[in-house]
Amino acid sequence: MVIVGGGFAGLSAARAFRNRPVQVTLVDRAGHHLFQPLLYQCATGILSEGQIATPLRYILRHESNVECVLAEVTGFDVAARTVIATRPTGGVLEIPYDDLIVAAGAEQSYFGHDEFAALAPGMKTLADALTIRRRVFGAFEMAETATDPEERRRWLTFVVVGAGPTGVELAGQIREVATRTLRDEFHRASVADTRVLLFEGGESALASFGPKLAGRAARTLRRLGVELFVHSVVTEVDRRGVAVRGPDRTVTRYEAGTVLWTAGVQAPPLAHALARQTGAEQDRAGRIRVAPDCTIPGHPEISVVGDLMALDHLPGVAEVAMQSGRHAGLRIRRQVEGRAAAGTGKPFRYRDLGSAAYLARGRAVVSFGRVRLGGFVAWCLWIAIHIGFLTGFRNRAGALLTWMITIGWAARRERALTAGQVADLRDGRHAAIPEQAARGRNTARSP
Ligand SMILES: Cc1cc2nc3c(=O)[nH]c(=O)nc-3n(C[C@H](O)[C@H](O)[C@H](O)COP(=O)(O)OP(=O)(O)OC[C@H]3O[C@@H](n4cnc5c(N)ncnc54)[C@H](O)[C@@H]3O)c2cc1C
Repeated sequence: MVIVGGGFAGLSAARAFRNRPVQVTLVDRAGHHLFQPLLYQCATGILSEGQIATPLRYILRHESNVECVLAEVTGFDVAARTVIATRPTGGVLEIPYDDLIVAAGAEQSYFGHDEFAALAPGMKTLADALTIRRRVFGAFEMAETATDPEERRRWLTFVVVGAGPTGVELAGQIREVATRTLRDEFHRASVADTRVLLFEGGESALASFGPKLAGRAARTLRRLGVELFVHSVVTEVDRRGVAVRGPDRTVTRYEAGTVLWTAGVQAPPLAHALARQTGAEQDRAGRIRVAPDCTIPGHPEISVVGDLMALDHLPGVAEVAMQSGRHAGLRIRRQVEGRAAAGTGKPFRYRDLGSAAYLARGRAVVSFGRVRLGGFVAWCLWIAIHIGFLTGFRNRAGALLTWMITIGWAARRERALTAGQVADLRDGRHAAIPEQAARGRNTARSP
């Protein structure tokens, strides 16, 4: 049994084989399980990288039948039932399988403009969060040392592209950093005047939460000082700012020292390799269309789960990933145990447990079933949900303690810069996401 990817989906699949006579190989290019919903807290100096990323070897240390392999999967030989990967030390690694679960997640979509990636980091990986953290805290330092008032204003202007949950959370946190955390630390730069411009191509922020909570989110953002622009599409990104096409279709230029991209996702190149090998169909975002039991039609030995799978318009959220990963794992387990014949998987039924987004201290929005909650009660629920899903007691206790300190004293300790990072900012060497920026692919279609 080979599983590609140790995110929410891959890990849930691996856990389905606990104490079963199945040899599982879990291949991941990063070697850690990342709690993506809290990436923005790592990016804004609240949580450390260790609190949201846990080594897969450590998580699965008691599962003697699971071997964790650090390698990047580059392709498949479906006829020979082999996964092809690159070892970290170089060279090709071929891993044979009887059954395969592909759970490689999604990557940021720049809607056909992958060249923006080097200038406007997205937020999908730990490397992205650390890049954003360096850029955000570095921008305040640049503003403090700038002698030209225009230049100082530019460094104190942040652009966030996309007002989904991640964009909203990030924009709100940057304003909180400026108005609470750094308020008394800077003498020349007026950090409280920091502008955070949040551009959304659709008609509202947090549109997926429905009009009532979207309206509430917009009011909270405005109270925080975030400038929200809806029906506004970022058409150009360069080293000095962005160009935005507004609702009246006129294009306006905004000077900004930091541009962050949280709009849209697409399947990684691995999906195209899998589709070519299996003849599977892909949706607009490149995700693999699967049969109701999460297998690739005509290939009952290959399941695709989590963000990479296209099934019944299910959203790319952690619950879908966990439930589909577990579903695929249990299906194979039943076959191995002789309780089901190959190719007779039950259809995957998703139980929607709702969604939540953090807005500000004491404010969040939560939606489940027909219930829509905002404000303090939603914020308490948000904390409970996120603590519940974090991996490991130490991370849970650590995150809770850190949140109490951040809420009470506005302190954010995770924000040290190295001399080399400061030099990069000064010289305009942005180098955000080597993998995605370097590829410069143009595969995603415009929204
Ligand atoms: C910033 C952010 C905030 C989010 N907030 C929420 C939220 O509040 N609530 C919610 O429900 N969902 C949220 N999500 C979505 C949720 O995190 C995803 O739906 C979920 O992580 C998908 O799980 P997955 O296992 O499919 O993919 P991932 O978690 O992305 O895992 C994919 C794994 O595959 C590995 N991998 C990728 N390519 C390769 C390769 N070629 N070779 C080897 N390994 C590979 C990666 O290293 C990674 O470990 C958020 C996502 C982001 C990015």
